[in-house]
Amino acid sequence: MVSFVCGIFGCLCDGAPQVILDGLKRLEYRGYDSVGVAVINNNKIALEKDKGRIDQFIGGLDETRLYGEVGVGHTRWATHGAPCKENAHPHLDCTKTIAVVHNGVLENFLQLREELARKGHHFTSNTDTEVIPHMIEEGMKAGLPLKEAVVQATKSIKGSMACIIIGTSEPNKMICVRRESPLVIGVGPKGAYCASDIPALLPFTKRVLIMQDDTIATLERGRVNLEEIGGGAVEPQFSNVTWDLKMAEKSGYPHFMIKEIYDQPVAIRDTLKVPETFLDRAADLLNDKIYLSGSGTSYHACLSTSYMMSRLLGIDVRPVLSSEFNEAVSDLQGSTVVAVSQSGETADTLSAVKYAKGKGAKILGITNTLGSSITVLSNAYICTQSGPEIGVAATKTFLTQLTALDLLTLRVGLKKGRISEGDYRSMSQQMNRLPRLIEETLGRCEKVKELALKYSTRRNAFFLARGINVATAMEGALKLKEISYIHAEGYPAGESKHGPISLVERDFLCVFIAPRDATRGRVIGNIMEMKARGAEIFSIITEGDEELKEVSNEFFEVPEAPDLLYPMLCTVPLQVFAYHVANFRGLDPDKPRNLAKSVTVL
Ligand code: GLU
Repeated sequence: MVSFVCGIFGCLCDGAPQVILDGLKRLEYRGYDSVGVAVINNNKIALEKDKGRIDQFIGGLDETRLYGEVGVGHTRWATHGAPCKENAHPHLDCTKTIAVVHNGVLENFLQLREELARKGHHFTSNTDTEVIPHMIEEGMKAGLPLKEAVVQATKSIKGSMACIIIGTSEPNKMICVRRESPLVIGVGPKGAYCASDIPALLPFTKRVLIMQDDTIATLERGRVNLEEIGGGAVEPQFSNVTWDLKMAEKSGYPHFMIKEIYDQPVAIRDTLKVPETFLDRAADLLNDKIYLSGSGTSYHACLSTSYMMSRLLGIDVRPVLSSEFNEAVSDLQGSTVVAVSQSGETADTLSAVKYAKGKGAKILGITNTLGSSITVLSNAYICTQSGPEIGVAATKTFLTQLTALDLLTLRVGLKKGRISEGDYRSMSQQMNRLPRLIEETLGRCEKVKELALKYSTRRNAFFLARGINVATAMEGALKLKEISYIHAEGYPAGESKHGPISLVERDFLCVFIAPRDATRGRVIGNIMEMKARGAEIFSIITEGDEELKEVSNEFFEVPEAPDLLYPMLCTVPLQVFAYHVANFRGLDPDKPRNLAKSVTVL
């Protein structure tokens, strides 16, 4: 599984605080919002943490307070609770003898937090993470040693977690737990280390052990004890890393974009964990007058959702480009604007939000960045929890936006009685199949590379589809144009005969999004129209669709899936296609010309 979460680092060695800060700096490329370090010093936990960047943090650090040989550090990408000092990791228990750093998202933290509060535990942050040290404290109160208390806690906690735990009861140990979020152990001549990714370990050792899911390791200087959580011992398998630092940052991939495309199953798995209370709060804001607004890829998520809401809820919602919003919409009283922005800082979207608020609209934010301006201006928000995205072209953030918006649509349907309880349950189960289906689709993408080579010298391309797949087509075209500089247009297939078709001549590339859903029959008609004019047809189809294979020059088969999931599944080969085309044209897909990751100018 590929990593995307922010950084954690722990070590047992001389001068631990310095080593931890050094390790965290090597995880800096991931982007983060706060930093913290805890060390065991004189049988007490010394803790320093704050909001902001690591250099600022080091600048303001009283180094005499941090001294020791066992410690943990964290760079946080907030998922629960805004970025601020209180929410920064490490988190401690009530007795301040246990310190925990955590990467990941916990599902049942609200329930656990209530139970712990009833037992008298006092919480100082709004994070999901803080339940972990308190759960461990409970176990230790009942007489368990540190590691056993960690095992017991992990059994009640649901969700993704990479954790490093230290405690003053056993001051020479570090406990490392991995479930879904990545964690790597390293042993070198001067000590033992644990981090969320290999680059942080490279200056200290090249001998690493990549922890498997549901395993727990106890580290002492010169000793690693590995076992399955609640199971037997596992033989630690170390290997020597041959990657250089640049490759290691990208988990061995040549570019962030392709790494992030392959991160998608994990990112979606985390988005699917959005607590129901968040969805309820968001769903309560939605009435019958809804606008969806975003820019670029986020706008495509809006467009796709407008079809989904119309089909599943029978509510007509209006997608509006953020840069056009203030001119296009005036009657906002009693309406809700769903504002979609990866960074939460997109200037056009913020301007639409401020305008809409001023006219009496309620705002629901969908963003990847907790604490961003959108979360501050919104009445409620959903965080897409994709982790930082470094490639400029949005990939995993698009699929997680769609995932979050689908979850929202289903929740609204249930609450408004437009979807029965039975249908809600079965569609939620369908959503849970998404990470696996995306993995399966990615597994087939070697073929896309061959097609990218074949088409990499084209100067133009149409991306065509009908209904809900139009947004997918537009996203495919945007990906191709933004990183390969090939002129590409995404268009509703039925509309193409009203103008664009005049561009089509022999060998003109037409990419069709044609899964086996309600749009399929009519899309075949549009394929035939283009074929009749000599176009080269490359279709994204459902596996085993012989009729479409027959009419296409080239095809890519996504796995058979419920209709709800096709917009996401069909996007994946288009992302991979754009990526490889850019490479074959000798362009850097991570840094397209003239573009910035977050567009903060109007
Ligand atoms: N869910 C945790 C938080 O919001 C961990 C976030 C992270 O992985 O950085 O504090």
